[in-house]
Amino acid sequence: MNVAEIMENRNAFSFEVFPPKTDVGMEKLCGKGGVLEQLYTLNPDYISCTYGAGGTNVGKNLEVLDKIVADGKCTGVTHFTCIGNTKEGIKEQLQTYLDHGIDHMLALRGDLPFGWTGTGGDLHYATELVKFVRQEFGDKFCIAVAGSPEGHIQCRSLEADIAFLKQKQDNGADYIMTQLCWDMDQFRYWLDAIRAAGIWMPVDVGIMPILDQAATINMALSRNACVMPRALSELISKHWIFPNPFDKEPFDAAAEQKKADFKKAGIEYTINQIDEYRACGINGIHLYALNKYDDVAYIAKEAGLLDLI
Ligand code: FAD
Repeated sequence: MNVAEIMENRNAFSFEVFPPKTDVGMEKLCGKGGVLEQLYTLNPDYISCTYGAGGTNVGKNLEVLDKIVADGKCTGVTHFTCIGNTKEGIKEQLQTYLDHGIDHMLALRGDLPFGWTGTGGDLHYATELVKFVRQEFGDKFCIAVAGSPEGHIQCRSLEADIAFLKQKQDNGADYIMTQLCWDMDQFRYWLDAIRAAGIWMPVDVGIMPILDQAATINMALSRNACVMPRALSELISKHWIFPNPFDKEPFDAAAEQKKADFKKAGIEYTINQIDEYRACGINGIHLYALNKYDDVAYIAKEAGLLDLI
């Protein structure tokens, strides 16, 4: 059963990892007893691996997915983008994934590298990528696409963004993986709106565990313009590390304690958020594992995700 079919029957549960830049990072993730092997013990339906902008880290992305496929404990899903890719290059890379047993992909436009104004490739939007993959490879891939409950940062309007999401479905996409969204009212509004627009694809919700102030602010604001609910802002303010959480050598004597307290509160916030999402009628929870095990394992267990299967 592919991942979209699983979500037609029950909620799915999955992790996301990224390709490490160093050999030490690769060993920690893919080595014996490493993070991937630890994550398998939680029985996820799939583990996805991100794809670097402009083709950076593509080699390591394949290495990570090779390990997941070879271990055979869950499905491997590759992220794939239009950035800097010609049609020929896309065909070659996707054929390589298939040759390596990887038949699930998240089809994305991709994050534009700093200073770029377009993809620098033959395809400009995820809609075109989905169409191209179906044209060239038929049904060989199960295709996920991104959905942005708050609207993508560059969209003309939420309505336009939803129309393009529908176009991804019409072009052959199988399921949606969502962008971060902490604003639950907005999420519920979006879910109703996409269903009203005729989008029936299962919705797999992306969750970034709240573990660190700087990473949370960075993720919300560096690219995505995510709304932070008052409760989340309060958590960050209450545990603010002076002069600011980005400072590598803060003068705040309580910095370490504040970090630990924030993490504890953030984990609780994340678990509550998963409860809220599951009550909305979604089809899966996709946890960003951040290439670590302990915190996401705790969150998954406490949120009851281990009993979904
Ligand atoms: P698109 O759907 O192409 O949309 C981009 C913008 O163009 C939107 O504003 C949309 O409204 C508009 N648009 C869409 N189609 C059309 C059209 N046909 N005509 C005109 N306008 C259109 N990035 C990476 O580089 N690597 C990763 O591994 C990665 N993983 C991700 C995982 C998830 C779960 C998510 C949600 C995002 C991920 N991203 C990743 C980020 C993603 O690449 C960015 O959000 C990117 O800016 C948009 O990608 P998209 O596929 O949503 O773009």
